[in-house]
Amino acid sequence: MAVAEPKTHGFQTEVKQLLKLMIHSLYSNKEIFLRELVSNAADAIDKLRFEAVSNESLYENEGELKVWIEPNKEQRTLTIRDNGIGMSQEEVMENLGTIAKSGTKQFLESLTGDQAKDAHLIGQFGVGFYSAFMVADDVVVKTRRAGAAAETGTVWTSKGEGEYSIEDATLENRGTEITLHLKEGEEEFLEEHRLKSIIQTYSDHISTPIFLIIHEEKQEEVKEGEEPKPAEIVRKEEQANSATALWTRPKSEITDEQYAETYKQISHDFEDPLVWSHNKVEGKTEYTSLLYIPKKAPFDLFNREKREGVKLYVRRIFIMDDAEHLLPNYLRFVRGVIDSNDLPLNVSREILQSNKTIDTIRTASVKRILGLMEKIAKDEDKQKYNDFWEQFGRVLKEGPAEDFANRERVAKLFRFASTHTGTEAQTVSFEDYISRMKEGQESIYYITADSYAAAKNSPQLEAFASKEVEVLLLSDPVDEWWISYLTEFEGKKLQSASKGALDLGNDEAEKEKQEKLKDENAELIKKVKETLGEKVKDVRVSLRLTSSPACIVADEHDMSAHMQRIMNAAGQNMPMSKPILELNPEHALFARLKASEGNETVFADWSNLLLDQAILAEGGQLEDPASFVKRMNGLLV
Ligand code: ADP
Ligand code: MG
Repeated sequence: MAVAEPKTHGFQTEVKQLLKLMIHSLYSNKEIFLRELVSNAADAIDKLRFEAVSNESLYENEGELKVWIEPNKEQRTLTIRDNGIGMSQEEVMENLGTIAKSGTKQFLESLTGDQAKDAHLIGQFGVGFYSAFMVADDVVVKTRRAGAAAETGTVWTSKGEGEYSIEDATLENRGTEITLHLKEGEEEFLEEHRLKSIIQTYSDHISTPIFLIIHEEKQEEVKEGEEPKPAEIVRKEEQANSATALWTRPKSEITDEQYAETYKQISHDFEDPLVWSHNKVEGKTEYTSLLYIPKKAPFDLFNREKREGVKLYVRRIFIMDDAEHLLPNYLRFVRGVIDSNDLPLNVSREILQSNKTIDTIRTASVKRILGLMEKIAKDEDKQKYNDFWEQFGRVLKEGPAEDFANRERVAKLFRFASTHTGTEAQTVSFEDYISRMKEGQESIYYITADSYAAAKNSPQLEAFASKEVEVLLLSDPVDEWWISYLTEFEGKKLQSASKGALDLGNDEAEKEKQEKLKDENAELIKKVKETLGEKVKDVRVSLRLTSSPACIVADEHDMSAHMQRIMNAAGQNMPMSKPILELNPEHALFARLKASEGNETVFADWSNLLLDQAILAEGGQLEDPASFVKRMNGLLV
């Protein structure tokens, strides 16, 4: 038989960058390499178990699935072996030569320079295998796919310096064996107690048994009058993890530390979770759920394509990592496990899409998570919920649109900046707002803008300020979106402060005065409208303004100017609806406008100037800024 020469290949550029980083910059927390390799081995075993459901021959008569870890002090090597799914040669090149995941660039960019944090990031980005090079300067992978002939094995070797080599091999054992030639100074990873403690810290809950292989010297007892025999080396396998999926154990037997460790394992987060909920449901639908809310948002929270978060198991067998069908999108920050007793093992994504069991589990899980958040919101420690809101509020705001049935319950969790608090921090709930509503006030008022400052200083709010009516200040891009799905809260209409005509429950005298102003200025207003022509939908006397001369508002059912800008920025070419210009008849500039009535050019300048400055104040852009400046200068001199 002709023996093929090993072939050398270069790593993908991103891999080279990553390796460089692993080798030269990460010094602390190196032990996580073992967590990564063990987790890959456990994944490979899960995959085998899953594929074998429909093809039992993949077990090759060896159905006991295990991971082995074997240190060798003489050779200074550490070997991690599994009898999982293994890899074909193509898969080796794909998986251990490139990074298929799109997040690498983001990963490299998000490195903080803080050793400990960066090391933890490695796991999050799914580039775990390469962490082997943190402790090894030579790595050998021998692997053969389950069910394939022994001759189809592959040996992959690399020193982590830009290239790797591939060689055909005959491997009797299926699965993957990774041998690390440890660097100088990394001897601790050959020590039994050190390895045990790492496994217990990071991999205890993994449901596959992990065995540590120990070589013990055994000295036979020396009998009287006999020469002592040379010590015999005995090879012992010792299980190093408890290998029961944590969620299958009764709650009362699980400590907070164990819950936290399991969370870290499944989420690749390095911080403890904020809260969790562990439930075993029996009856018509039987399942166990263990759901966690993290403390911090992951870097790719807004990447809606990445839908990993809640893992689906069927009778303790891992099926898929796919939160899409298990939880709605607005809860995509939740991590955890759902283990069903009722689903078939060969369940596919298609089946999940329209499955009663999944629907039941999903509905109940959403309720549990909402319940968890409500509990934090009630916590005496207010900071806890504020921190949560800061991390996940913008995602939660997708809720009313996506989960119509729970829209009010979700909205109850919302927090806003408001004219009442006068700070940018989002701390005011709808319930807080309602408790402060004025007598006779029927609506909940809000204003949307591009920034907190723009919202706070909107001229449209002047009348609200003088009447001491609170207005919620919304400046997240997503605000315009959810608010169109939540038209009321607890029977109170949500009303934009910059839309429609305003009625702040004024008293009779005030109403009379306003009517009078309208009548008195009707002619003038009509003339302004004629002058501005196509630029406006309407011009009217304002009831909102006290200190500004003018503002623009949208018609009750038109999109706000702010929303139009968002849509246009998102590439949706919306026909811009025209603004309504409101003028303050008690402002000095209004008097100047009035005074210029005889001179058409000056009157047009004033009319345009009032419109343009109102657009600017609202955060909009002028179509013709040069003319605005020219007019203003003309009127200033
Ligand atoms: P991730 O585990 O996030 O996919 P890794 O860098 O840890 O990223 O591993 C890359 C890929 O290499 C895995 O997705 C898997 O396909 C393959 N792989 C790694 N270790 C093993 C193993 N022990 N058995 C089979 N495949 C493996
Ligand atoms: Mg991995």
